This record gives sequence, structure tokens and C-alpha cells, in this order.
Amino acid sequence: MSEVIRPVAVYVHIPFCAKHCAYCDFNTYVERAQSGLVQATVAAIQRDIERAGRELAARDDSVVVPTIFFGGGTPTFLLGEQLASILRTVQDNFAVAPHAEISSEANPGSSDATKFAAMRAAGFNRLSIGVQSFDDGLLVALDRFHTAGEAERALQAAREAGFTNLNLDLMFGLPKQNLPLWEATLERALALGTEHLSLYALTLEPGTRFERLDAGGKLDLPDEDVELNMYERSIALLTAAGLEHYEVSNFARPGYRSQHNQVYWRNEEYLGIGPGAVSYLDGRRWKRERLPARYNAKVEAGADLAVESECLAAEGTLGETMMLGLRLRDGLPLQTIRHRFGIDPLTYFEAQIARLQSEDLITLDSDTLRLTHRGLLFANDALGAFLPD
Ligand code: SF4
Repeated sequence: MSEVIRPVAVYVHIPFCAKHCAYCDFNTYVERAQSGLVQATVAAIQRDIERAGRELAARDDSVVVPTIFFGGGTPTFLLGEQLASILRTVQDNFAVAPHAEISSEANPGSSDATKFAAMRAAGFNRLSIGVQSFDDGLLVALDRFHTAGEAERALQAAREAGFTNLNLDLMFGLPKQNLPLWEATLERALALGTEHLSLYALTLEPGTRFERLDAGGKLDLPDEDVELNMYERSIALLTAAGLEHYEVSNFARPGYRSQHNQVYWRNEEYLGIGPGAVSYLDGRRWKRERLPARYNAKVEAGADLAVESECLAAEGTLGETMMLGLRLRDGLPLQTIRHRFGIDPLTYFEAQIARLQSEDLITLDSDTLRLTHRGLLFANDALGAFLPD
């Protein structure tokens, strides 16, 4: 075993949901619980993990897994025993770091104390619960599969199962949502005292019901100014309540930042398992077969699972690393970029940095670049400046 450790995070994609939400374009399929396809996919994911573990260990015995994340889709669409069994397969086939962060997304509509207890006993130590809103009317408009009361009960069940590290996902900029409605959701979330909150502005993704409604002029979305107010108000309320605003969309109590998501923001390596999962290893990014039936057949046949693959040129990786790293509120220490790429970003991105500074979107202080308050409000536009044309 090599002395040097190479961290590679593991993501496991569960591509099923009980119902399709109006805004969602993730790789997920509405299925009957425990259908033949669901069971075959659980088995295929486990074979995929075994093979990926073998292949990675054969190439590099220094790999250690610092974080594992089950996402979807809806991981809790599966039985607790199935999630436990998949996690065990990861633990048996990879060198998982002691005290690794092991998270799963959970949907309040498919979660209960028994399932959470099985997950906790298996080694999951963090849950990310997709609440989205504490307003029942908005939950119906989003086609969510649960009520606000069920979301609160899911959180209570997670606590009873022994989870001490919980995130809630919440959305703003929703149809007919106004500032008081959003504040009410934030205040209810704060009252529940979770360790982490992720706040996402609604985006209209191609192919979703919301996109079609919007195209027909039937989606009553708040104005951009109102949406910016919602975001600014979130920052004020949550930081006043003692949460650290550590990433554009993420807030945590001290010591509870998401370790797994920080792998993505630092543009570090990860292996994605399951239908449609993306991997980033050895300077190559690729996606696995998206359709569960096709994925299962390829796993069974021992075929190559990659359907889209790109070798990232150093220039693209450098720009992505700048763009992702600047999402962190601690900022991007430029020495890390010089060390990793052998390039001085102050020279390489001289024009971009000068423009973003003149527009009050970023600051440079003690060799660290950071988004300003204005930069936070227009983060996607500002950070796009670092990507190649
Ligand atoms: S539950 Fe999550 S993954 Fe499933 S459709 Fe809704 S938003 Fe998408």
C-alpha cells in the first residue's frame, strides 16, 4: 500500500421516484415500489460497485474514499435493507476512510423511523431531506409527494433514529411565492434546528412541466427583484441565527459543512455509480448509461458503461476549478491554483479578474479571490467568466 493517499469520493445514483416533480430534470423514472426493474437495478448497482472497486484498486492502491453520497432520484424509494446492502457493497469494495461522511438524500414521502433506523445502523451518518417548502399549497404546485407536516415528521424520525447531522433542501422563486411566504418557510426550518440548510432558486429546465407552463404564459413566477430579495433575506436570517454562509447556496452550523459537496466545489475526484452517474477521475469526465434497463443489461454483460466521455484539457479544468472554488465564501486561495496547475491565475485570467473587480463582483485580498455581496447575487453570470469560450 502506497504511503500517499488519493481521495476519491463515491456517489451512488438511485434513479427512481414515486412521482415526478414539476420542475425536475434529473435522471429519474417513476416506478412501482419494488418492481422487477427496481430490484434488478439494485442488483446491477451492486455489481457496478464491485467492478469499479476492483478496477480502481488495480490501477491505484492509494485510493481512499473520504465521503459517500446516495442521491437520485429518491434513495429512500428503496427499502432500508436495500440501501444498507448497497452501502455494505461500497464498504467491502473500497478503502473507506474511518469517520467518512456517509450521506443519503431522503424524501419525506418515502421515509419513516424504521427505514431511517436501518440506514443509521448500516453506517449512514448524514441525511439530506428534500423538504423544498413548508407551505402545503406550494408543495402541491411543485407536484411534491408529501405535506409540510410529513416533512417535519420525517425530520423527527431521523432524529429518533440517531442522526445528528441533517440537511434540509428548500426552494425559492416558486410560482405565487412571495417574500412573507418564503420567510415563513425559513423560520420553520430554523425552528427545527437542523445542522445544514441548502437553498435553491427555481430554474426552468427543458422538458419539465414548469417549463411548458411558462412557455404557455401560465406560470406566475416572482420578478427577478423579488427573487433577489428572497435570497438576501435568507442570508440575513440564517446568519443571524448562527449558521455560516459557506457556499453560494449552503449554510451550516460550525463543523457541519457538507464534506461531499466540498469535493465538487474543489473540483476533486469522484466516482459515480448507477444509471446516469457522472465520474471525474484521471482528468477524464464521463457519464454512465442513463436508462436503468440498458444500464442493467450492460452491467450484466460486463460491457463498458460510459456513454459520454471527455478528457478535460488543462485550460478547461483550470477554469472550472476557479468557477467552482469561488462558490465557497472562504474564497479561492490563488496559491492552490498555482500549485495544482503551475499557472498564475492573476496573469492567465487578468482581463476577467479586472472586469469582475470593476463590476464589484469579486475582490482580491491577501492573494485570495472572493465573491462580493453583489457577486453572490449574480454568481452564475460572474463565475461563467472563467470558462473557456
Ligand atoms: S423527488 Fe427529487 S428526483 Fe424525484 S422527481 Fe422530485 S425533485 Fe426529482
